[in-house]
Amino acid sequence: MGYPIKGFNPHTFIDCEGKLACVIYLSGCNFRCPYCHSKALVCESDNELGKVPFEQIELFLQEKEGWIYAVVIGGGEPTLYAQLPALLNDLKRNGLFVKIDTNGTNPQMLRHIIKEKLVDYVAMDVKAPLEPEKYHKASGSNIDLSLIKESIDIIMHSGIEYEFRTTVVPTLLDSADIVKIARLLRGAEKYVLQQFSPKDTLDISFMQVKPYTADELKKMRSLVKEFVKNCFVRGE
Ligand code: SF4
Repeated sequence: MGYPIKGFNPHTFIDCEGKLACVIYLSGCNFRCPYCHSKALVCESDNELGKVPFEQIELFLQEKEGWIYAVVIGGGEPTLYAQLPALLNDLKRNGLFVKIDTNGTNPQMLRHIIKEKLVDYVAMDVKAPLEPEKYHKASGSNIDLSLIKESIDIIMHSGIEYEFRTTVVPTLLDSADIVKIARLLRGAEKYVLQQFSPKDTLDISFMQVKPYTADELKKMRSLVKEFVKNCFVRGE
């Protein structure tokens, strides 16, 4: 099957809470977050897609049966692809725990893959409070924000494991914005504040932005505790 797989990381311990996982990267994204580190995937032109044959990955997974706990589908934005359910189905057939990373712009696809039990864990980025100007600045796009809200609702009522996460980039977000996002996620099981890294960013001017300190991020975490059940800082 010609899935648009651009990259494959056979071993990672950081994407699935310390459990051994591999990562499949699908290229292309409908966002242009200025702080994105996946320029090659996001800006890939169509004729360069499909560099890693799925058969190769499937063979690897069969050889490592019992060792690899999970497969993470990242990108880019995986929900852009109509073939995503077929890819997830092929992975579930191999008995794997499947996690998907998404920017939440395709609630219809999310609803479908959750309903069909093709995914075990969803990690969704919430880039900014749902305010057009702020979301535009953080995502580099003019997305309909009702799609983001719809995805949040679907995930929170899905019954599967999930997390929402925000990369906390100075110049784009401050602590008041983080509180607004946490209010939006009221009652969520897990909210992750991700440290921003000023390396190899899509917009090169962001390489000059100084990240918040670990203490500043911890203070933000303390501000959102009342809204979500668990809040973590990642990449301090
Ligand atoms: S949603 Fe943003 S950070 Fe994620 S891959 Fe697309 S451009 Fe990069």
